[in-house]
Amino acid sequence: MNLTDIPIGIGTWFLGEDRRKRDSEITAIRRGLDLGLRVIDTAEMYGSGASEELVGEAIAGRRDDVFLVSKVLPSNASASGVRRALEASLYRLNTDHLDLYLYHWRGHHRLEETVEALQAAVDDGLIGAWGVSNFDPADMDDLADLGVTPATNQILYNLLRRGPEYDLLPLMRERGVDLMAYSPLEQGRLFQGQPGKLLSEIAAEAGTTPAALALAWAVREPGSIAIPRTSSPERMEENASALQVTLTPEILRDLDEVFTPPSGPRPLEVL
Ligand code: NDP
Repeated sequence: MNLTDIPIGIGTWFLGEDRRKRDSEITAIRRGLDLGLRVIDTAEMYGSGASEELVGEAIAGRRDDVFLVSKVLPSNASASGVRRALEASLYRLNTDHLDLYLYHWRGHHRLEETVEALQAAVDDGLIGAWGVSNFDPADMDDLADLGVTPATNQILYNLLRRGPEYDLLPLMRERGVDLMAYSPLEQGRLFQGQPGKLLSEIAAEAGTTPAALALAWAVREPGSIAIPRTSSPERMEENASALQVTLTPEILRDLDEVFTPPSGPRPLEVL
């Protein structure tokens, strides 16, 4: 199974933090898997491990259905720190391996040391591959200088955050680095105000919903996946329906008019 085979995945930031929502969150994740979604994205940071524990519970008995992704915090990105953090994540997720492990954002540890630790985890069979997150073009060049290529760069990318289209995404495509679009719904803000109203109108014309359209748009290029988060099983179905949306040139042009593409370089935005 490759990361972008099924280009909609399951985000889990904030999941596992509210006891009252737990059943619904677990049902939502399982519904996503039943619908054929495969990638689950979590991190040691989310709820200080609570998200990983919730995911571990949701995927119990069906680990083989899942392409499991977690992330190491910059403060743990030393050689010994990566291994310790990884083992703790595996324990919380109740599994013996991750399919992909990401360096959450760049911190003060030497990049070479972090990359070596990630590569060692691949060699030891604890992770299938490693990648990065929130790396801008200069950070990507630092990796290239080390002679290594991450499997993916997980970045903030949605209709309201198109900056990466100018420089980062072409560079990633050229180097064979997959896109993982995080906060693809801008944490729900995509549906608000005048842009939200116009998005609804374009979606209605396209015969789909605003969320499904926004997700289909985020993964319109090969080698991309978006990882929306929801605690609702019904919304999980809606988000999975993005896989069936066909984007015509007319729809793309209408979206460009409301959500304009970048005309110059912009600093990489993060959430
Ligand atoms: P999203 O852009 O996925 O938006 C989530 C919000 O949108 C929730 O409030 C959810 O509410 C709502 N929502 C979900 N589906 C729908 C729908 N169909 N219609 C209307 N509203 C909807 O935000 P996230 O920031 O969570 O990003 C997604 C994932 O990306 C994270 O969960 C995490 O895994 C990853 N991430 C990674 C980062 C990094 O630094 N690497 C940073 C940020 C996120 P409800 O639950 O009520 O449905």
